[in-house]
Amino acid sequence: MSDPISIADAARKRDARKRADLQERARGITLCRSGFHQWAIDQKKQFDVRSGRLVTVLRCTRCTATKTRLD
Ligand SMILES: [Zn+2]
Repeated sequence: MSDPISIADAARKRDARKRADLQERARGITLCRSGFHQWAIDQKKQFDVRSGRLVTVLRCTRCTATKTRLD
């Protein structure tokens, strides 16, 4: 025995959450396009041949951008 009202309510809540996710993602992409990436450490202490020293590789969690940070 299920209550049709609570099922509809659950579906509505699920849709709202999905919408919020999409909005969040869209906002993130907008930020990325503006150069505000969400950097996360991808690979620690990698030797960068170009600079000839150890660097930390950072990757954006929202898009495919990467950058290196000198330590
Ligand atoms: Zn990004």
